[in-house]
Amino acid sequence: MPIRALLYRRPSEPQAIELVFDGAMYLVRLSRHRRARRYTLRIHAATREVVLTIPPRGNVKEAKAFAERHGGWIAARLGRLPEVVPFTHGTAVPLRDVRHRIVHRRTMRGTVSREIDDRGNRLICVPGDPPHLGRRVSDFFKREAKRDLEAATRRYADQLGVKIKRVAVRDQSSRWGSCSTTGVLSFSWRLVLAPPFVLDYLAAHEVAHLVEMNHSRRFWRLLERLCPNMARAKVWLDVHGPDLHRYGPPGTHARLPGVGPILDTSDL
Ligand SMILES: [Zn+2]
Repeated sequence: MPIRALLYRRPSEPQAIELVFDGAMYLVRLSRHRRARRYTLRIHAATREVVLTIPPRGNVKEAKAFAERHGGWIAARLGRLPEVVPFTHGTAVPLRDVRHRIVHRRTMRGTVSREIDDRGNRLICVPGDPPHLGRRVSDFFKREAKRDLEAATRRYADQLGVKIKRVAVRDQSSRWGSCSTTGVLSFSWRLVLAPPFVLDYLAAHEVAHLVEMNHSRRFWRLLERLCPNMARAKVWLDVHGPDLHRYGPPGTHARLPGVGPILDTSDL
C-alpha cells in the first residue's frame, strides 16, 4: 500500500456522527478529503444528506465541534429543502415550467403521451404495468429534454459556426451541462422541467465552450452575445435549480449525489 494511502487511512474513524440541535437529531456523514484545506459542511439537496469534509490533519473531535457550532445552519438548510417528488400516479410535475399531472392508464397502448382533459389540465398519460411507471415517465422526460437540447444546441452552433459531435442527456446531478474536448455536449434531463429560457442558456453555455474551452472573460462575453437571457437564467437556476432534483422515479433519490448549499469555513 502506498505510504500516502496509509497516512490518510483512519480505520477507527466513524463514518457518521449524530448531531443534536434544538431537540432534533441529524446524521452527519464524515468524509475525509486529501485535498481539503478546512472543515466544510455540505447539504445534498437531492438526498437531504449532510456531509462534513475533514482535512487531512483534522480529527473527529474537531469535526464534531464544527458540526455543533453550525447546528443552526444545518437545521435551517434542511428545513428549507422541499420534499422529494417521485414519479407516481397523480403526481404533479413541471414540463417546460408548465404543471402536468402523471396519470396511469393501464389499458392504454403504445408509449407515454400528453393530453389536455376537459377542464384544461395537462396530463402525462403512462401505459403499462404500475412497476414500470417511474421508468417510463423518466424515459419520456429524457426524450423531451434531448429533443429540446438538440434543437437549441444546433441553433447556437449554427450561429457560432461550430460543429457538435453529439448531445447526451444524462441523470447527472452535480452539473447541468458539460462539454468534452471531443465535442460531446452532456446535459441533465431535468433542464426540461425548467422554463425554456433556462434550457436555452445551458445549451448556449456548452456550445460556447466549443469556441472557448474555459470560463475566461472572452467566454462570458461570447455567451452574453449568444444568450441575452443569461443573467435571468443564472438567477433562475440559483433559486429554483435545487428544486429540480426533487423529481425522479421512486427510489432513485437515495443515490443521487445532488447539489445543494455549501458552508465553508472560509465563509464564516
Ligand atoms: Zn462552463
